[in-house]
Amino acid sequence: MSFLKNKLIDIALEARHFSHSPYSTKKIGAAIQLDNGKIYSGCNIENASYGGTVCAERVAIWKAYSENSLPIKIKSIAISSDENSPWPPCGFCRQVMAEFSTAETEITLVNLQKKEVTMKFSELFPFAFEAKHLGK
Ligand code: ZN
Repeated sequence: MSFLKNKLIDIALEARHFSHSPYSTKKIGAAIQLDNGKIYSGCNIENASYGGTVCAERVAIWKAYSENSLPIKIKSIAISSDENSPWPPCGFCRQVMAEFSTAETEITLVNLQKKEVTMKFSELFPFAFEAKHLGK
């Protein structure tokens, strides 16, 4: 396992501690690394009005986008959960990832014991709806 991948996993695991998850009680953390090397973390932030809940992955991506002046490209993502089989991102998050990822973006799912599953974004979400479908 590479140093950078380990670092991203550690940041994703740390991000769980900031989770606001009184309803699901599931603490999720995420860390993304952009192709410019910058790293951003996120945690799930739930809301009593459930539709206002935002997943850890999207929090990290939106933080990255709002703090960079150019369109961002995600090089890798780590997502942590306290589950025997590390949880994959939901459909909303996959769609948001599609906007800023490439087919080669590395996705790592990890649990507290650092059991991990790693795949390319094209394997996680093989037929994403993208800007090209809108002629962009
Ligand atoms: Zn999600």
